[in-house]
Amino acid sequence: MISSESPFKAEVEELLEASGVKASSAEILGPFSDLANRISEALWLAVLPGSTTNSLWWPLLLLTAILSVILWALRRGRGAKGVDGREQPMGLLAYVMPKSIITHPSARVDIGLYLLDRGLMPVWVVAFLGSVAPFVEQTTIGALQSAFGGSPALTPNLAWSLAYGLVTLLIADMIFFFTHLMMHKTDIGWAIHKVHHSAQVLTPITRMREHFIAAPIWALGPAIGLSISGGLFAYLFNGGITQITIVNLSVFSFLYALNGNFRHYHVSFRYPRWLEYWLQSPGMHHTHHSYLEKHWDTNLGLVTSIWDRLFGTLYFAERYEETPWGLTEPDQAKYTSLSDNLLTPFREIARILGRRWVSEKGGTAGRAEV
Ligand SMILES: [Zn+2]
Ligand SMILES: [Zn+2]
Repeated sequence: MISSESPFKAEVEELLEASGVKASSAEILGPFSDLANRISEALWLAVLPGSTTNSLWWPLLLLTAILSVILWALRRGRGAKGVDGREQPMGLLAYVMPKSIITHPSARVDIGLYLLDRGLMPVWVVAFLGSVAPFVEQTTIGALQSAFGGSPALTPNLAWSLAYGLVTLLIADMIFFFTHLMMHKTDIGWAIHKVHHSAQVLTPITRMREHFIAAPIWALGPAIGLSISGGLFAYLFNGGITQITIVNLSVFSFLYALNGNFRHYHVSFRYPRWLEYWLQSPGMHHTHHSYLEKHWDTNLGLVTSIWDRLFGTLYFAERYEETPWGLTEPDQAKYTSLSDNLLTPFREIARILGRRWVSEKGGTAGRAEV
């Protein structure tokens, strides 16, 4: 079960070769840790849209559907929401794959944004896997070597491999929260992130619904954070550690990919309250997508609820609480079609910068509000 070679590594090598930097790819991808394994799983699979083995991989979708059937049977058809975000009893087919949701114009926009993102993905792979991550990783290893001497070359075992996956996941979780907070609380961040929140229905593809300029923002933090953890573990084990994998995904990424499919799905899948106090259940993300004011900026976390607790953004919805998805007007009208979702962020950013420029020129202190 312990993978020595990530299939994604070969894929990244091909991308690097295609982009003309093959000569340095051996250096870029090694020699210490399995960079591709770490980044591809924790970053591209859990946090970002991206690889060929992402959460839309058919076995994961199948597992999502099977779990939905089980939920439907256990709950006697309860616990799924309609396009209005209201829970209502449904027949099996509507519960697993409701026509009103998959044919909704919002779901079509999801697909357009997803395809565009997939098309640009190699650019980010080369930019972050190929440059920032190895640099940070090598710097981390170098700093540890100069501080503590050569690698202690610990012997990896099952517990260490699990620890490696867990530390990676927790770092990704922390970075995700702060990136997400910044996306919600800054004018420019929100102008971009509204593309994700303009989804009026939730489907597994909504997870990938982001403006293409958001991808490098989401990627940079984890690329740095995960490279530090990769460098640390590569140093401790002299490069001889890999994560425990299930069907080529790290065990945590596998669980998280499944969890991620339910985060953007009309079926509410919650954990008991005591567990949600520590871990984000997928159903908690329904609240995050609601346009009701009491739900704004809540449940920003990805894996744990720790950061939401610390920042007072944790929100426990009642069982099947109404969560109408999308943005409030007039934002929703400006972020509905595919072209609007692509162009409006640029218009809004230009407006924000224009206002700031005017306010600075006018000598007023502080930044302009939008
Ligand atoms: Zn958000
Ligand atoms: Zn979301």
